[in-house]
Amino acid sequence: MSDIEIARAAKKKSIQEIGTKVGIPTEHLLPYGHDKAKVSQEFINSVQDRPNGKLILVTAVNPTPAGEGKTTTTVGLGDGLNAIGKKAMICIREASLGPNFGMKGGAAGGGYAQIVPMEDMNLHFTGDFHAITSAHSLLSAMLDNHIYWGNEQQIDVRRVAWRRVVDMNDRSLRQITSSLGGVANGYPREDGFDITVASEVMAILCLSNDLKDLQKRLGDMIVAYRRDKTPVYCRDIKADGAMTVLLKDAMQPNLVQTLENNPAFVHGGPFANIAHGCNSVIATKTALKLADYVVTEAGFGADLGAEKFMDIKCRKAGLAPDAVVLVATVRALKMNGGVKKDDLGKESVDAVKKGCANLGRHIENLKQFGVSVVVAINHFVKDTDAEIQAVIDFVATQGSEAILAKHWADGSKGSADLARKVVEVVERGKSNFAPLYPDEMPLFEKIETIAKRIYRADEVIADTKVRGQLKEWEEQGYGHLPVCMAKTQYSFTTDPNRRGAPTGHSLPVREVRLSAGAGFIVVVCGDIMTMPGLPRVPSAESIYLNDDGQIEGLF
Ligand code: ADP
Ligand code: MG
Repeated sequence: MSDIEIARAAKKKSIQEIGTKVGIPTEHLLPYGHDKAKVSQEFINSVQDRPNGKLILVTAVNPTPAGEGKTTTTVGLGDGLNAIGKKAMICIREASLGPNFGMKGGAAGGGYAQIVPMEDMNLHFTGDFHAITSAHSLLSAMLDNHIYWGNEQQIDVRRVAWRRVVDMNDRSLRQITSSLGGVANGYPREDGFDITVASEVMAILCLSNDLKDLQKRLGDMIVAYRRDKTPVYCRDIKADGAMTVLLKDAMQPNLVQTLENNPAFVHGGPFANIAHGCNSVIATKTALKLADYVVTEAGFGADLGAEKFMDIKCRKAGLAPDAVVLVATVRALKMNGGVKKDDLGKESVDAVKKGCANLGRHIENLKQFGVSVVVAINHFVKDTDAEIQAVIDFVATQGSEAILAKHWADGSKGSADLARKVVEVVERGKSNFAPLYPDEMPLFEKIETIAKRIYRADEVIADTKVRGQLKEWEEQGYGHLPVCMAKTQYSFTTDPNRRGAPTGHSLPVREVRLSAGAGFIVVVCGDIMTMPGLPRVPSAESIYLNDDGQIEGLF
């Protein structure tokens, strides 16, 4: 059965019932239909004095292009914990709408470990991304309007840093010229669109503690520079107040359920390259007040996603993971062991063994953060016993343990062993979390620390322009910010084809960008795409409503 068929057959409970499970009174649920609801700010405020539950991060080895099942495992583990009698919640990201029409593959998990209603979650959901697009567009409009009516801030139109956004894969908008058509339309300038999830507004929404914090951070965003290169802030354009108004409801976490009727917050969805790739701080922190175990996910492999989760999200929000689940699949390990994508269906114990070097390095890296690691082998039906045993044996030599998990096929029955192991590790209480580097470390050294300790590069290569820029930001008071690495997810290096656990490489830094509102410095190492395109045959061509009004072809 396809993911959408399984989801359609789900026996959903009313969202009020799901809320009751974690003690959210009905009057504090703001329903969006029968199966989705936002949680009131008043309720969130009222639980602040409660103790926190345990936080479990789900991350993965360097993936295959299809993904390794981090979301599927996050959902499966949440169901598994509930099935063994723990009160657990799941926190994952919302889906970007555009990519659903490009290639198949949703953001709600898969098989018998899914969040429902998955069609909604992958499309308009509760309108959060529309609100983010609107808030972003308001600032775009106000900025050009400011220039039009006399440009009091003396913005250099060649140095407008604020791009526009739309939630669609549309490569034709990557670079455009705006304000054409004569005097009445303003001053023509170069412009361009990113996809909504790449907006700094998205990153800010996901890192803000409350609406006040949100407005301050929006105000802090740099939108342009003057001729003397001094920055013009969103606050100077006076857009921060109205943007906050547009984002008021989008700031509240969305409550939904799994196929097994367990509660999940699905909230926020920043890019995992130019942003930090985790669900919102407000959702995670609220869930920790409501459940004994909170399972959450970070985008990409552990070298990028987990590192940013720890060094950006946890650092800023004062969170600390109690355990990390590292998802490995036999097929990803085979790919890391040199097997081509088309040959993944054939048994190859040797390739698995070779690819385990990648897994081993991630285990070692995660331990540097002081957290305990459990490896989850996300089982695919074609995996052979010998291949699985090779992974289990390897992990045992790394001072960790690998658990075979079959949640995709069997739901919580398939993930109960994993859940029990996670509980055991958490209860052992050995976690002693600390970010990789201190706030006060100079910016370039922060990049070097990640490059050497996580990517195992020998050196960081950056020209004087990049180094000079970092120095300048330090002088302007941005030196305490964490760095947000943007590089390929397929390799520890910047070359997507160098799989496994490569050494003897260097990390070239192309460009650095200041996200002053989100509060990090983006370090661009290699190509990054902030506006995806559609493939030759977009999946949109086969998406339609059937005679019963159901969506077909989405997943
Ligand atoms: P990630 O979060 O790592 O990107 P997802 O959990 O979204 O990955 O899964 C990616 C795709 O792989 C989904 O379409 C999902 O249904 C599928 N998938 C995940 N786990 C399995 C599995 N064990 N067997 C078959 N397909 C799977
Ligand atoms: Mg995912």
